[in-house]
Amino acid sequence: MAETLIKVDLKKSPYENEKIHNRWHPDIPMVATVKPGDDFIIECVDWTGGQIADNDSADDVRDVDLTKVHFLSGPVGVEGAEPGDLLQVEILDIGAFDDSQWGFNGFFSKQNGGGFLTEHFPEAQKSIWDFNGMFTKSRHVPGVEFAGLIHPGLIGCLPSKAMLATWNEREKALVDTNPDRVPPLAALPYADTAHMGMMSGDEAKAAAAEGARTVPPREHGGNCDIKDLSRGSTVYFPVYVDGAGLSVGDLHFSQGDGEITFCGAIEMAGWVHMRVNLIKDGMAKYGVKNPIFKPSPITPKYDDYLIFEGISVDEQGKQHYLDVHIAYRQACLNAIEYLTKFGYSKAQAYAILGVAPVQGHISGVVDIPNACATLWLPTDIFEFDVKLNPDGPKKALDGSVDVPLSPDLE
Ligand code: ZN
Repeated sequence: MAETLIKVDLKKSPYENEKIHNRWHPDIPMVATVKPGDDFIIECVDWTGGQIADNDSADDVRDVDLTKVHFLSGPVGVEGAEPGDLLQVEILDIGAFDDSQWGFNGFFSKQNGGGFLTEHFPEAQKSIWDFNGMFTKSRHVPGVEFAGLIHPGLIGCLPSKAMLATWNEREKALVDTNPDRVPPLAALPYADTAHMGMMSGDEAKAAAAEGARTVPPREHGGNCDIKDLSRGSTVYFPVYVDGAGLSVGDLHFSQGDGEITFCGAIEMAGWVHMRVNLIKDGMAKYGVKNPIFKPSPITPKYDDYLIFEGISVDEQGKQHYLDVHIAYRQACLNAIEYLTKFGYSKAQAYAILGVAPVQGHISGVVDIPNACATLWLPTDIFEFDVKLNPDGPKKALDGSVDVPLSPDLE
């Protein structure tokens, strides 16, 4: 059995665990060192560090402190790793803890983070998903069950000092274009709730003031939220500091492409079993700026889909030029409208798109003026026939489910 390098206690605050951190900074000390070829297990709290409970109220999602996220386990040092190398990480397996076989999905309120469709779903909502082996179901979203494509939402190596400075500079410049926007254009450094791992005293204070927030994906990978970066994948990460400093967290039992609800996937605590190796000078050898990965040989097999199209004309009918973001939003809204015809509330439909193995594709980006994006909804995840037929949709759900999800948004 591989050694567990980082253990977590779900009953304790992640701030009490010095092998956890919630900012990116080159000076965060390694919590353990491994050799190329080693495999090991890292345990992770959920991305909010236990702020969300297994109950039927969305108040905790409404009140979540997003300056605290994401809680990451690490960094783990790799002997011999130097800037310019590629760190090869095989994700051998991922699982939930025996005594924590559940996860959550939420929509943040527009005032506190929002989400992809925050203009349509401005209130906080939550659904709880129970795990049964490789399958999951929710008491809040009936009529649907599927196998999880389990993955870390967030994984990557520590940035160098220069890279950190570049991140902070470019993100601040963006925020400065509209500093009062709700939700904000980017999450800038915020020292008050920073957890700098094993750093302490003045050194930790100084680092916390400039430590990058973990919200966006960046050159090092980070919060990419790629559903296909699942157990069985092999990822190649750019190395920027001696020892690489690999950290991981934000485990997802399942997620649709785009993580559109933002809170986001089916979020869970759990463990990751990994093996590391190095490709010396790999960044130059392979021309790598952002991570590359090979997907798992094993994925849930859903190959029948209803595919919803969306174009870059917004909800008000305004024409946009090849805007994929707007086109994907329209594809999602079209899928949500369709699912309401079977008895789901709009919020339940939105949750399904956030958590199920839904695919998103950029289908066309050259046919001026409209980009075309598609959302692929697997039909076999539903316990009823969700396909079109000449008789029209047969309501599968009575819509009277007792949930915190959206009675007001029917
Ligand atoms: Zn997540």
